[in-house]
Amino acid sequence: MIAALRGTVATHRSDHHGLCLGCPPTWTDGRLTREPWPCPTIDQAQGFLKDPDRIYEALPGERV
Ligand SMILES: [Zn+2]
Repeated sequence: MIAALRGTVATHRSDHHGLCLGCPPTWTDGRLTREPWPCPTIDQAQGFLKDPDRIYEALPGERV
């Protein structure tokens, strides 16, 4: 699980515009745009890495 999170963090990197490379582009005001980095995915992943027990609250049923 932690490895999967690390893989996510490796994918969601900032490009030279400060936008996330891992998030799918979205149409906003007729332009294709990306999430500013750090994106919500990174925020969430970093929260889980700092406090791994939170993942059990977020994903009921995944408890081992
Ligand atoms: Zn992202």
